[in-house]
Amino acid sequence: MFGDLKGRRVLVTGSTQGIGLAAVEAFARHGALVGMNGRKAPADLDATLARLNELDGEVAFLPADVSSSAEAARLVEAFVERFGGIDVLINNAGGLVARKPLEEIDDDFFDAVTDLNARSALMVTKYALPHLKDSARQSGTTASVILVGSVAGYTGGGPGAGLYGAAKAWLHNIQKNWVTFHAKDGIRFNTVSPGTFDTAFHADKDADTKARIGAGFPMGRFGRPEECAPTFLFFASHACSGYITGQVLDVNGGQYMP
Ligand code: NAD
Repeated sequence: MFGDLKGRRVLVTGSTQGIGLAAVEAFARHGALVGMNGRKAPADLDATLARLNELDGEVAFLPADVSSSAEAARLVEAFVERFGGIDVLINNAGGLVARKPLEEIDDDFFDAVTDLNARSALMVTKYALPHLKDSARQSGTTASVILVGSVAGYTGGGPGAGLYGAAKAWLHNIQKNWVTFHAKDGIRFNTVSPGTFDTAFHADKDADTKARIGAGFPMGRFGRPEECAPTFLFFASHACSGYITGQVLDVNGGQYMP
């Protein structure tokens, strides 16, 4: 089904664990050349790379803190140096930073949350743009940019997560401008919007709390990272989604139905 992903060059930011790592693995299984990114190398990097490189593709680890524009530029450069171009960009790096109610938000916290969730996606996309244009031109198909939004982008987020939710809503919105002005370049922009997934993102909750929260969703549980991965394959594949752009795909077990 995703046969056209073989040999495609895919950069996934924030992908040493959780939803991003599951995406890297799914692309590697389909023969893609994948850049796995995180701020620093995880302790089990060698074993993870060995496992991933036994699949059909090729995976390289490229460290960079994408909340810094200079490092975002360096990441794109390093990826292009390694694989010769970019066909698919997945802006997955993101997170709460911390939970802070309105009364406790200061400038540093505002910057940290918006740099990680909004600036990072914009800057990596900006630096990747010339390469994505080249990809579309050379392949005669489309290049694909995928943002990772959140159910919080609709609901406003849980306790202390207002800035995070707003940054995700900003992503849901800004892709509309990119679609309007870059469809002509052969680039598609879509957003995968997860509900509640069982990753380190929810490390502040014990198993009972997760089970109780999950029971409130129509599907009765949290999502698993590998259940999000196929949506990235879908938006990356020109054969599957070549006429789909500017959309948000909600992967949330019915938790929220916009
Ligand atoms: P996670 O914390 O397990 O993984 C986050 C990844 O991002 C890690 O690989 C980490 O190394 C990397 N990262 C963090 N800061 C970075 C930086 N400055 N530069 C580069 N890499 C950085 O989280 P996850 O649950 O897998 O989340 C992945 C994405 O999905 C995030 O954008 C998150 O906001 C979004 N999301 C998650 C959930 C959920 O319930 N887990 C829900 C909605 C949206």
